[in-house]
Amino acid sequence: MTSATQGAAQGFIELGLSDTILKGIDFAGFDKPRPIQVQTIPAAVEGRDVLGLAQTGTGKTAAFALPILERLREHRKMHPRALIIAPTRELATQIAEQTRALARHTGLKVITIFGGVSQRMQTSALRRHPDVIVGCPGRLYDLYEQGFLHLDQVETLVLDEADHMFDMGFLPTIRRILKQLPNNRQNLLFSATMPLDIRGLASEILHDPHQVELTIRQPAQTIDHALIAVSEDRKRDLLDRVLRREDCHSAIVFCRTKHRARRLADQLWKNGHKAIALQGNMSQNARDRAMRGFREGKFRVLVATDIVARGIDVQGVSYVLNFDVPMTSEAYTHRIGRTGRSELAGKALTFLTQADKRWLKATQKMLGREIRRHKEKGFDSGYNERNAPQERVSGAFGKKAQGKQGPPKKRRGPEPGRKRDSRRGGARGSVRGSAHDPANSASKKGGGARRDGRR
Ligand code: AMP
Repeated sequence: MTSATQGAAQGFIELGLSDTILKGIDFAGFDKPRPIQVQTIPAAVEGRDVLGLAQTGTGKTAAFALPILERLREHRKMHPRALIIAPTRELATQIAEQTRALARHTGLKVITIFGGVSQRMQTSALRRHPDVIVGCPGRLYDLYEQGFLHLDQVETLVLDEADHMFDMGFLPTIRRILKQLPNNRQNLLFSATMPLDIRGLASEILHDPHQVELTIRQPAQTIDHALIAVSEDRKRDLLDRVLRREDCHSAIVFCRTKHRARRLADQLWKNGHKAIALQGNMSQNARDRAMRGFREGKFRVLVATDIVARGIDVQGVSYVLNFDVPMTSEAYTHRIGRTGRSELAGKALTFLTQADKRWLKATQKMLGREIRRHKEKGFDSGYNERNAPQERVSGAFGKKAQGKQGPPKKRRGPEPGRKRDSRRGGARGSVRGSAHDPANSASKKGGGARRDGRR
């Protein structure tokens, strides 16, 4: 028995992984295999196709990365042998980082390919014979068309967050990529939800797949999540108050639109919070700086939109704050899954206005239970059933109340119509933030960090 198999990776031995891979698991600091890993790895190591219905935060990356590494480690080839396609640059980067850590003792090369940055570094990385490519569909296909990316030796294809890729309109590009891959490859498809289009794609490309399904509609048990009723115009004060709680070391705040995210991050910064926006209008460099700054604890608050934040993994996020409710009920589970990750405890609070009643009904139905209500002691939430606007109908906003009226509450004047513009600790991947002291805001000290992540 080697040191790797004696170590924390013990539970992984039974999954059919070799010593070299077990050492990588030890290096990554994994303790015992997560349920999705137990269910996926043995079948994938055997070479079977896998259909995984699971959200991020469950350990899904290692569930597909470990079998890939196990199967690749024996031989080397000129061209990439594993292709992992993910919807966002952030997710691709995260998958590559984790895969590299797990591949530490294998000598396998992992590179990332995505748009928004110069392709020069990527083409030169491709010339150095990488074994595993993690990338986003658009740039992958671009580089294939330009003759830089060779897909004829791909043995394993992973489609990660397939439903998200579909939402983002990537399906046609993915289909073009699929046509260039050898037919006798292994396919691993992971998706948090299984809408019809994804089911169709899965049945087209997967052969007798081993199916893994985790209870994806339920947030992790480690997440304490609640709703707080508030009027639109009191949301910012409420946010300020929650961010000053002693247990709020770091938070991800979700907004409905890029514009709202940017504006809110600016306002928070002015109020002394070390906040940074993460939204799709930012350049790749600015997005990287924001993520890095948040991971390293330079920023305590990440104000994000769904598109960029989905799938991001930062250990130790103490709060997820839904400043705006998400568009769908499924997105609720995704968002609050940014905290309570990897079996750590986390809190989530959703700011609920009158306009969000329909969303609430659908979400509670999906969860099969009511979400706990929280009242902030001594805070005037401005939430007034009587004067509140009507439930938001898809795409509409700012309508006057017509809906069912609840009991009258303390009056604060009518709520204005809402606008709908809408890793572990130490050096790697942990969010380190100190308890926020309102009287001595961290940002007042400056720390040399600018809001956009530049120094
Ligand atoms: P994922 O769902 O792949 O985004 O993983 C969520 C987080 O769990 C990542 O930070 C992983 O590094 C971590 N993780 C995955 N598997 C394990 C494991 N077996 N033991 C400890 N941490 C893990």
